[in-house]
Amino acid sequence: MSPQLLNLAYIVAAILFVFGLKMLGRQHTARRGNLLSSVGMLIAVVATLLDRNVIDFTWIVVGLVVGSVIGVACARLVKMTSMPEMVALLNGFGGLASLLVGWAEFGKINAFGWERYLADFAGTPGFTSAVIFLAVLIGGITFTGSLYAFCKLAEWLSGRPILFRGQHLLNGAMVLGLLAAGLVFTLNRDPQVATLAFGAFLILGLILGWTLVMPIGGGDMPVVIAMLNSLSGLAACAAGFVITNNVLIVAGCLVGTSGMILSIIMCKAMNRSIGNVLFSGFGAAAPAAASGEGAIQGELKPISAEDSFAVLEAARQVVIIPGYGMAVSQAQHVVRELAEMLENNGAEVRFAIHPVAGRMPGHMNVLLAEANVPYEQLVEMDSINPLMPTMDVAIVIGANDVVNPAAARDKASPIYGMPIINAHEARTVICLKRGKGTGFSGLENQLFLMPNTRMLYGDAKASLQGVVSEFKSIAAG
Ligand code: NAP
Repeated sequence: MSPQLLNLAYIVAAILFVFGLKMLGRQHTARRGNLLSSVGMLIAVVATLLDRNVIDFTWIVVGLVVGSVIGVACARLVKMTSMPEMVALLNGFGGLASLLVGWAEFGKINAFGWERYLADFAGTPGFTSAVIFLAVLIGGITFTGSLYAFCKLAEWLSGRPILFRGQHLLNGAMVLGLLAAGLVFTLNRDPQVATLAFGAFLILGLILGWTLVMPIGGGDMPVVIAMLNSLSGLAACAAGFVITNNVLIVAGCLVGTSGMILSIIMCKAMNRSIGNVLFSGFGAAAPAAASGEGAIQGELKPISAEDSFAVLEAARQVVIIPGYGMAVSQAQHVVRELAEMLENNGAEVRFAIHPVAGRMPGHMNVLLAEANVPYEQLVEMDSINPLMPTMDVAIVIGANDVVNPAAARDKASPIYGMPIINAHEARTVICLKRGKGTGFSGLENQLFLMPNTRMLYGDAKASLQGVVSEFKSIAAG
């Protein structure tokens, strides 16, 4: 394929990526957006395979087969609740791929000599070295940072933030070392010095990825995953410059910016800055019991499935607030069943979705869509909160931090200022959870102590099945 045709195909692919991404922003266009982006990727892949620079297909076919087998196995075996660690791992491999592209390009120097390498390369020599440096550095940070994030999320390592004396100083020194090595690599023309500089920033980048993720803890991990996703895009973009592949540059930029936008959205939803998430070690200290002004005192009041049914049967306005516990118990299908029964009973049912409920952005939307809950029933936090005092019942299904009134009332609480769904303003609140476990932030939830709250203990799916069977037995009898 001629370079002109190749670039034309890449432009078409890039346009499809951009429009596909735009369409992903709305539920009713998301499917088509996904399809459009996939067609773009197909065009990019086919055009690249037809490129005259491909001299042998053997390893490409081997990669395709091995990758497909691993991909199918992951798609079938990885549980929905393990998606965040899966995404972390995929980001890491994206970073590693970019690192290897940079390394392979640099490897030509050793194979053919510096002069031949410079003569072969189209770009200016300094620019070429700079993008190799960036691909290896960002790819390395992404790889080890993502591996560490994976280990934390999979609970192979402690999920708590790890802080030690001089941590920021050490990271700062490594960043300075990296910049110095990068500068030497970019400006120097001696292959031996270049090899030393390359080794230095390769190793420092790999260590830095690990130490940067160390002080970030539990509840902040989804933000880190989005940031690492963004970094993997930037690394791919740098790799695109290394091998002068336009579509890789564009796709890398799109991933880089969308990951960054997502991180910012999540930080806003938690009322935190990116700097605070990355460097404060949030949650490193054991959380104190709620004690500040506005803290609620009271006791937990259990309720049975039969009594929950009695409350729900009389309700006309019901809001369901799902959280991470719904994902754990895979209760989305029985939730939809309950919502249908409530509607058949004359109630209006809404689902209130907090932007950071669950363990990844859109987690609740994905689960409820899987259970065929109509999009029109999903209401965002800002739209449901003004309606909350008019709700007869709020059913909180395995949500904790995102409905903790301490965030709004208790100035001593570490999550003070985080926007929440005001479940406590409903006339009656029924909270489904297994026991006295805290939310992901490790904090006690003052909602559970309020006079209008009742606790329906047990696995969310089993508890909901209990309520649903009460409805069924009334309908049958
Ligand atoms: P959460 O605070 O993690 O609480 C989950 C609750 O579910 C727990 O109280 C747990 O209590 C209960 N639970 C667990 N398994 C259950 C089961 N099988 N049946 C019934 N209940 C079960 O959840 P959340 O309210 O969704 O909050 C999300 C957290 O993640 C927030 O802290 C948020 O800041 C953080 N975060 C999320 C994102 C994101 O993108 N989604 C991003 C950044 C941060 P028991 O153990 O007693 O059952």
